[in-house]
Amino acid sequence: MVPPKLPGLVLPGSIIKLHSSDERGNMTDRLAWIDEELKNLKETGFYNSIRTLGSPQGSHLVVDGKQVLNFCSNNYLGLANHPRLVEAVNAATKRLGVGPGAVRSIAGTMDLHIELERRMAAFKGVESSVVLQSGFVANSASIPVLAGKEDAILSDELNHASIIDGSRLSGAKIIRFKHADPQALEDAIKAAQSQYRRLLMITDGVFSMDGDIAPLDQLVEICERYGVMSMVDDAHGEGVVGKGGRGIVDHFGLHGRLDLEVGTFSKAFGVAGGVVAGKAKISDLLKQRSRAFLFSSAMTVPNAAANLAAVDLLEESTALVDRLWGNARFFQAEMRKLGFDTGVTQTPITPVMLGDVQLAREFSRQLYDAGVFAMALGFPTVPQGKARIRVMLSAAHSQQDLENCLDAFEQVGKRLNVI
Ligand SMILES: *Cc1c(COP(=O)(O)O)cnc(C)c1O
Repeated sequence: MVPPKLPGLVLPGSIIKLHSSDERGNMTDRLAWIDEELKNLKETGFYNSIRTLGSPQGSHLVVDGKQVLNFCSNNYLGLANHPRLVEAVNAATKRLGVGPGAVRSIAGTMDLHIELERRMAAFKGVESSVVLQSGFVANSASIPVLAGKEDAILSDELNHASIIDGSRLSGAKIIRFKHADPQALEDAIKAAQSQYRRLLMITDGVFSMDGDIAPLDQLVEICERYGVMSMVDDAHGEGVVGKGGRGIVDHFGLHGRLDLEVGTFSKAFGVAGGVVAGKAKISDLLKQRSRAFLFSSAMTVPNAAANLAAVDLLEESTALVDRLWGNARFFQAEMRKLGFDTGVTQTPITPVMLGDVQLAREFSRQLYDAGVFAMALGFPTVPQGKARIRVMLSAAHSQQDLENCLDAFEQVGKRLNVI
């Protein structure tokens, strides 16, 4: 119900009744719509109940006081509580304190940020990188630098929310193309080419709901052919795919062919922060134009130090990445043997396709009772009728953890007639 705009206006009785006044004659229920909205979310099953952790991220978690096996987090390599990262934070905070005290362009750029940018550029095999506060921020910081009102963005229809928001912020026309479909991209380019000043193609590298990989080699080839700028968000690819976790560009051997890569330090790197990597001139322009760079304070000292230690670990050895993939291959093969449908995944993200959202929720509840924490995902996070449990594997899991998880899936799957 719309609240009356003018006090004193003569309103129909039904509307007046909705608005009680306090002793000063002010409307007291202008937030009543929020109660309605929350009630509606709860009644339709879309209300998000957020669990509280009482332990570090690891193979096990204490969730709301209960110890469970963790198959929910993006801590792919087990770095979120790694002693090397913790040590690096302690050393850095002793030297530099905690807060950056300013935005990057005023007095917030520390040697630590520059070092992290240099190391990330080297890790990714690109000219340059810029570190930002989060992966979400990295998209809203970079997309408006590359595209504006006269331009169009060609966006995979399943792109992450932060790509969509960054694209909206740019003011460019957003043209969605069919998921992971190079022909659809080419058709969209042909139709849009003459109508816009410039075109920018953006895709996730690894799609977080299904675990599938964008056909980046084909997408990039088309972009090159038509002179379209290209950008990939590699949040779930870094630390996971490519040589030693060097990401999607390395996975396809596309070095130097993408204009921009966005990444996050919050997933495989186990910490927090975002990164934009690519051509030096894009970094240069981003530092001049990006509102998130110019108007939001720099990454904190502990964050930057922990991220640097994560890069060190990734460059020293591929052991953690290898272990992650070993765990993923074992788990996925065993799940298929049990008769579960693990969808189209090509990565350690393991969707267990159940279809019905109520079934997925009940499945997740029963797993939880059995000590396994794995999330049910339903509409609108995934399409209607494609509800699933998403199992996130990690190098932190032991063989025993995986077997315990498989046992729980087998028991619940049989009980609920899924297998
Ligand atoms: C998680 C994710 C982000 C956001 O990263 P944060 O560092 O958590 O803000 C951005 N893009 C994609 C594709 C993601 O999966």
